[in-house]
Amino acid sequence: MIEWENLKKTNQPFFEEYRTRFAEILDRGWFILGRNVIDFEKEFAQYIGSKYCIGVASGLDALILSLKAFGFKPGCEIIVPANTYIATIISVLQNGLQPVLVEPGIGTYNIDPDRIEEKITSKTVAIIAVHLYGKACNMGKIMRIAKDYHLKIIEDCSQSHGARYQEKTTGTFGDAAAFSFYPTKSLGALGDGGAIITDDPNFAEKIRILGNYGSPRKHYFELVGFNSRLDEIQAGFLQIKLKKLDKINEHKRTLARLYLNNLNDKFISPMVEEGYFDVYHIFAIRHAGRDKLKEYLKDNGIMTEIHYPFPPHRQRVLQGLLPAQNLPISEEIHNTILSLPCAFFHTEEDIMKVIETMNKFPSYGF
Ligand SMILES: *Cc1c(COP(=O)(O)O)cnc(C)c1O
Repeated sequence: MIEWENLKKTNQPFFEEYRTRFAEILDRGWFILGRNVIDFEKEFAQYIGSKYCIGVASGLDALILSLKAFGFKPGCEIIVPANTYIATIISVLQNGLQPVLVEPGIGTYNIDPDRIEEKITSKTVAIIAVHLYGKACNMGKIMRIAKDYHLKIIEDCSQSHGARYQEKTTGTFGDAAAFSFYPTKSLGALGDGGAIITDDPNFAEKIRILGNYGSPRKHYFELVGFNSRLDEIQAGFLQIKLKKLDKINEHKRTLARLYLNNLNDKFISPMVEEGYFDVYHIFAIRHAGRDKLKEYLKDNGIMTEIHYPFPPHRQRVLQGLLPAQNLPISEEIHNTILSLPCAFFHTEEDIMKVIETMNKFPSYGF
């Protein structure tokens, strides 16, 4: 059987170093805001190419705290892609702000920059650019719009650790960037974790205070804060994995290239554009007979996933919170998308087997 992901196998190459690090942390007996977090924050900021990194408890928290730190007034509008993991949109609602959904490009699956301006109103204050599946958004166009309309940019880099646009790493374009270290992400921890990246020292300080009960120093409280911190154990594991992130990304890119070069063109492969360095957090294809294809692959011992089966605007949580939505491109993507095996533990042979099996998929008139 070819699994879609196996977190034991994907992490196996790091087990020895993880065990040593875990033993060191136990020995030291310091579990919150210690040496590992400080070092990881420094190393991750450096890896991304930014000045500050603040570890938090999850990717969702990274988004929530970023929006909070800007101090937007309730009711302000935030532009978000209609095609994203719902956490992006939840972070807006958690701040009492109004999400405004913008259709993705049918080829890139990312927010369509040419459809942003028509959604900007006098209440718009920011755009959340989500680099979905490990492919950067068109940050050239998005940054131009942000400048013209004086909007803040928050990058949701939960799926794009190390992805680049025009040689610049995702997370360095906007005013703030949110990362998730959920175990399945390319830089995945062994539990929950997240981080915010920024070049602004005041913003960084505010995030740090907000994530620590609103406390700038012990026993003093200045803001209504949260408890959202990356812990020492996860930071220790992440330090080890970060050193291999380029290798992880290269391996996934190699597997992706096999798909791109060998999959029959009855499947719509992800777009490859000049100037983009895609890291394939998820390798997703589209096919009109997606559900049948998923069943067929399963019958042949190949497991797949759907990211995501239902678009956010169809979820119950958003009913009544948005005006009537007409998002045919987003719906088309959700109805036809399928995530193929493309994990760090997969071999080139695994992927060739998936390709061979897929290319024999009967067309059923699709
Ligand atoms: C995973 C993910 C999140 C949330 O991250 P968590 O660490 O699970 O809270 C947010 N946005 C996107 C695009 C994601 O893929």
